[in-house]
Amino acid sequence: MPGPRRKTKNKPSATAASSSLAVALPDAFVEEIDDVQGWREIVNLLCDAFKLPDMSRRSGLKKIHANFSEIYRKMDKTYTKYSGNEKVVGGIVAIWAKMCVDAVLRNRLVHEGLIDKIMPLMDMRSTRLIGLETLATVTHHGGLEVRIEIAKHTPTLLRIMDEFPDHPKINELAVSTISHSVGSVINEEHLDKALARKLDVPAVLKQVLDAMRKPNASLILVDHGISLVTSGCQHCHQEIKALPPLLSLLAACLRVSDISVRCNALASFIRINSPGSEEENRFFDPRKLMDAVQRRFPGHLVDAMMDFGMLRCETTLLGKTAGDYQTAMMKCAQDHDLRTLGKTLAGLIVRTEFSISEGGFQSYNDRGQMEFMDVGLPFKAWTDSLPHCAKVLRDGNPTPLDLDMADILDIKFYILRQRIPDAIAHAQGAIKRNPQVAYFYYAIGLGADTAQALRAVKKGLKAKQTTPFVKYYMLWRAIVSAGDMGVTMLANARAGDQEYSEGIAFLMSALDDTKDFFDIAPPDARHMATIVNWFVVLTLAIKGPELSPDLKELEPAFKKLEIARRITEHIGFPYKKTQMRLSREMMLRLWPKAIKDFVSTITYYDALYDSSSKEQQSVAGAEDTLAAWLDEISHDDEDGHYDTHCIHPRINSNSVELYRCTYCRNPSAALRKCSGCGKVRYCDGACQKSHWFEHKATCKPA
Ligand SMILES: [Zn+2]
Ligand SMILES: [Zn+2]
Ligand SMILES: [Zn+2]
Repeated sequence: MPGPRRKTKNKPSATAASSSLAVALPDAFVEEIDDVQGWREIVNLLCDAFKLPDMSRRSGLKKIHANFSEIYRKMDKTYTKYSGNEKVVGGIVAIWAKMCVDAVLRNRLVHEGLIDKIMPLMDMRSTRLIGLETLATVTHHGGLEVRIEIAKHTPTLLRIMDEFPDHPKINELAVSTISHSVGSVINEEHLDKALARKLDVPAVLKQVLDAMRKPNASLILVDHGISLVTSGCQHCHQEIKALPPLLSLLAACLRVSDISVRCNALASFIRINSPGSEEENRFFDPRKLMDAVQRRFPGHLVDAMMDFGMLRCETTLLGKTAGDYQTAMMKCAQDHDLRTLGKTLAGLIVRTEFSISEGGFQSYNDRGQMEFMDVGLPFKAWTDSLPHCAKVLRDGNPTPLDLDMADILDIKFYILRQRIPDAIAHAQGAIKRNPQVAYFYYAIGLGADTAQALRAVKKGLKAKQTTPFVKYYMLWRAIVSAGDMGVTMLANARAGDQEYSEGIAFLMSALDDTKDFFDIAPPDARHMATIVNWFVVLTLAIKGPELSPDLKELEPAFKKLEIARRITEHIGFPYKKTQMRLSREMMLRLWPKAIKDFVSTITYYDALYDSSSKEQQSVAGAEDTLAAWLDEISHDDEDGHYDTHCIHPRINSNSVELYRCTYCRNPSAALRKCSGCGKVRYCDGACQKSHWFEHKATCKPA
């Protein structure tokens, strides 16, 4: 393997030297270096002179740990003494860059002032690439502190990009460094506003965009550029919105064949539309709905509802349920049969969301005020009947069905009282008794914990005792949760992270569920508009290149959306400017122009992303940049693993499949493999057990 010469047996010499005071290399040695051509050879000589172990191995890096102070002082003295000698300082910095793959060594080097020693290399012709290579390596391997320090040198990088606009390697390394460093700064939860302003993010984005559109831009450059833009969408949305060419490029990215690029573009659109967006109608007043039912829907809306089936529409069910609820209560006032009342209410609860409303047996008191009357039942307010009915259902010799209904009543009571944690805890207990009641998972899906909710509703969708309302509610929650989580993962993922595959798995899961939602949800379903918005943006990202330029595939969805919007308005709810609505509108607005004006960029990116050979991914340096040596780390001696490639792993459907439960299709990063075959993955033992009947035929050790 090419590279610095391996050390032979005389190991102890380094330790022996540590007792003496570190001194710079002698002039005679430097003269020797002056005669050498090529960076590889220079680094070889320096490694020998400093008696460094083989840094391609973990064991070698460990030896450097042990003697770091001694080794560093000697190198530093040499760097200072020969600071005008490009070969010496370039070679030394290259060796430091190599040490930076190790987090501990990197932090120590940065602490010793590494960055100030790299920057002078930028203005020397022969060392410029080594300096840039070092910055890209150091920032790639990370540490927020280091990235912030290097971000402060962004103006220097931009100046060099300006001076060498057509040098692909310089641009690649500069953009990579900027993406790692500035990307980290602007993606921070607690954005350092002063620093962001000082960095002049719009100018940075503009210059990176120009580099991304160069006909010789490399895959690494493009990939890092996209990653920077995605990060920027977190906090610098205004800057990004103010750059129309950047938005067009993002829209064009939806047509690129690589799915990770498309999903990144989607995540960007969703993020920049977060500020200024409105919350969905969270609290739905069922009385408004009742009024709307009585006002009658306009003809074209009635047609749409008839096409679906009037009796299955949400408003119809609501009207019918309200009547049934009244009747059941009145009957109970006469017969005092809480068991029958409980059974009826349990049936109403799983029929529609607003099944049980506040109310009571009303009468006027002596002062002429309305109040709830005591009719000899253990409750006055109707909603208080739920726990009493549940208790009666559990008394005596309850059947399993009695117990299911009692649990449904208790859970609904907690939900009505907005005691969601109690509802969830009760549902979790109920699932242990009977895992086939979908309503129990629905209840867990009401919780604020998105991951927990997603996991629960994905299981609930497989449960056998279910109703259309419970099912499409769970689908809504699954789509929105998986969508939100996927977008967050993609925006936080850095080059090389598995979060890319994970994030895409979440988005694909969300798109899968939109189809089932459309199959069972009525046109007046409360969340219809939200789901159509998700469907459109997810389809643009996941199916991008397959779609026709005029998007005629999406026409049925646009129709659904139009009807949903009119129904919302008829009911009297404002049609809110939600984040998803704004994202859909922006993406559709940009789509035609982006695919027309950016054909050559899309074709060029496709070629970049399709190329399988690594040489095509990066620009081969015109000079010997030591890139290969910096990359070269042997994994064979210990478990230690250093990821040195600054490139996103290519995503394919198989790698995405690793993040989906084989049984319930829940997307998750924490699945467990079947120990029998090691091929399929599950959320937990329950999913594995449910799938076993189907899986046992194919479960064989590989
Ligand atoms: Zn990188
Ligand atoms: Zn599962
Ligand atoms: Zn198996």
